[in-house]
Amino acid sequence: MDTGKLVVLGSINADHILNIEQFPQPGETVIGKQYTVAFGGKGANQAVAAGRAGADISFIACVGEDDIGERVCKQLASDDIDTSPVEAISGATTGVALIFVNAEGENVIGIDAGANKAVTPEYLNRYQQNIIEASALLMQLESPLETVIAAAKLAKQHNTQVILNPAPACDLPAELLSLVDIITPNETEAERLTGVQVNNNDDAARAAKVLHEKGIDTVIITLGSKGVWLSQKGEGKQIVGFRVKAIDTIAAGDTFNGALVTSLLEGKLMESAVRFAHAAAAIAVTRPGAQPSVPWRHEIDDFLA
Ligand code: ADP
Repeated sequence: MDTGKLVVLGSINADHILNIEQFPQPGETVIGKQYTVAFGGKGANQAVAAGRAGADISFIACVGEDDIGERVCKQLASDDIDTSPVEAISGATTGVALIFVNAEGENVIGIDAGANKAVTPEYLNRYQQNIIEASALLMQLESPLETVIAAAKLAKQHNTQVILNPAPACDLPAELLSLVDIITPNETEAERLTGVQVNNNDDAARAAKVLHEKGIDTVIITLGSKGVWLSQKGEGKQIVGFRVKAIDTIAAGDTFNGALVTSLLEGKLMESAVRFAHAAAAIAVTRPGAQPSVPWRHEIDDFLA
């Protein structure tokens, strides 16, 4: 299919996951049940979701000059992503997330940004053309904030649509928000950005209004199994997701974002793109892990058929 180009700017992490019965107390050592290393990072997860969904995508990111960085790049390329703007940074290690998962499926996570810190505004300058030529730029908040702002400014100057998934939750300058066309917070992130606790549709509408007032035309608040609150220039409605037996919601939001943008770039209207993204995310939550759970296009099409 002929689509506009997508550029994702974001993080690459190696997720080191240790399944344990209970989280350790300070000073305590616990023996794990299972240890896995998986490829993650919100940027990479969303790039993979878009690549597998069929987007014409390039990815601006950095890895360390290490074995895992090399393996991640090979994997990204096999997910139909143009990785020419992914450089291995000498002396840096690939970003790492150390994740404990307890028997209830809850997690605690510590992150070392590592090579993700090298995605500076100067680094971005080398790949300006990717943003200038793209129809859409998708970003999250695991890259240096000044780079996210610089990329958004460049995109705006060249009519490239700016989609921001404001995760992980943090406060954002008004300058950045005014450059965003579509924002996709989950309930926690929406509360962080607006001060409105989102427990129901009325709350979601109030939170969306605050984001509209900051200059954002389209607000999509993801509501987990309840779908999303979609608000376009103040007209809001809930779009429910698909009912599936969820076993692991890691990367649900990432899959949603990558698939949403892919569908919009194919010229789909917003509601139809949300439905496509719901389908992709619904498939992802029925499978374990981050990137391994992300579906390919034929799986999304079969799900929707
Ligand atoms: P995040 O992972 O960023 O916290 P959410 O939990 O809000 O994001 O989920 C994002 C999207 O993933 C939802 O809008 C929905 O499409 C899908 N999703 C999440 N959880 C479920 C679930 N239990 N069943 C079906 N779809 C889900």
